[in-house]
Amino acid sequence: MSTKVRFAPSPTGKLHVGNVRTALTNVLHARQTGGTFLLRIDDTDLERSTKAFEDGIRTDLTWLGLVWDETFNQSDRFDKYDAAAQKLKEAGLLYPAYETSDELDRKRKIQRAQGKPPVYDRASLSLTRDQIAAYDAEGRNPHWRFKLSGKPVSWTDLIRGETTIETSSLSDPILIREDGSYLYTLPSVVDDIEAGITTIIRGEDHTTNSGAQIEIFEALGGKVPEFGHQALLVGADGGKLSKRLGTLAIGDLRESEGIEPMAILSLLAKIGTSDAIDACTDIQTLIDQFSFDKFSRAPARFDPKELKRLNARVLHELSYFDVKERLAEMGADGGEAFWHAVAPNLERLSDAKSWHTLIEGPVTPVIEEAEYIAEAAAALPEGELDGTSWEAWTGSLKEITGRKGKALFMPLRMALTGEQHGPDMSELLPLIGRDRVLERLKA
Ligand code: GLU
Repeated sequence: MSTKVRFAPSPTGKLHVGNVRTALTNVLHARQTGGTFLLRIDDTDLERSTKAFEDGIRTDLTWLGLVWDETFNQSDRFDKYDAAAQKLKEAGLLYPAYETSDELDRKRKIQRAQGKPPVYDRASLSLTRDQIAAYDAEGRNPHWRFKLSGKPVSWTDLIRGETTIETSSLSDPILIREDGSYLYTLPSVVDDIEAGITTIIRGEDHTTNSGAQIEIFEALGGKVPEFGHQALLVGADGGKLSKRLGTLAIGDLRESEGIEPMAILSLLAKIGTSDAIDACTDIQTLIDQFSFDKFSRAPARFDPKELKRLNARVLHELSYFDVKERLAEMGADGGEAFWHAVAPNLERLSDAKSWHTLIEGPVTPVIEEAEYIAEAAAALPEGELDGTSWEAWTGSLKEITGRKGKALFMPLRMALTGEQHGPDMSELLPLIGRDRVLERLKA
């Protein structure tokens, strides 16, 4: 049977590095096994879900190259969830509970004061008909809880290994709120069954849910999938990942930070695993290297600085043909030799624009030693400048003037580019070309 995985974001916010790590792990597993990747939009919370967030999720995933094979929205499927809820009610596994949230709070406080775990006491299960009728007359709507078995639920987690959840230590989960809306728990299981999901890969914060959801899979007569729970991302200092660490939304990394998709994927595929982090320009390499066995159970550290470093390395690795179109869009397509010259100096692709100006001009030459620059202009090799011209030129200037090192090179760089730093001069010289070189030296 071939694998089928899903990524199931709720469109209640922007996609960030934590979600994308989950999406990526799903994609890598699907692609490695020749399986199917489903994008499910978990929008049962009609109040908080927006179309704009959903569109943002699709845009971000597409930009990252995490393309889905199938997609649907939960909000189109309420009839399925109603049918499943009905089935559970008939089996006596979904029961109405009438406590208000204040009453539940009070119960938990008392339990804590008595040193007991704050587990729901199932009081609503033993209400008499009259009591229920009284609540109904009062206009109190019940919420609906799934009746857990009270037995341990175990599975071999793809990442955590042998895992057991003692359902006796859990409150019966609420599947339907007072207002009739669904929490994520039941719709997710209904969809996973119907879509034939073989493997659920998600964050470790869902491990306890999985215990309850496995019982719901069984109650609905579905096949229980395999599970893999990833340790969560934390900041570089081991603390909670928070906004303080810089922008973590994918849209911001793309638009404000100039981060390349493959820098994000290269980092997120490897943090929290035993593999070294390396700049990778091709997702196939990440697919080939993927293995659940490499994941650590310790939280994975996400360092925005590391992402920036990796971004520069990814840019250096990209070929001219990978970036040609984007260079053209920003008016900086200087051809393959241009790309070769400037790529090692880029932290973000948009930096190419200023290097392109440095070649095409206008450039304000900085000439501090006019005499030396005049000598240099006279010593410029004859004819078209090429890859050997810089060496020939500085070689003869060295002989003529006795200068060496920085004193020899720096005035030339400053006169030709107006900058102290920049791409390799031997590559820049032919790109600037004879006419502009002479023009700048004689400025
Ligand atoms: N919508 C849920 C979430 O974002 C999905 C969790 C799951 O993968 O089952 O947390």
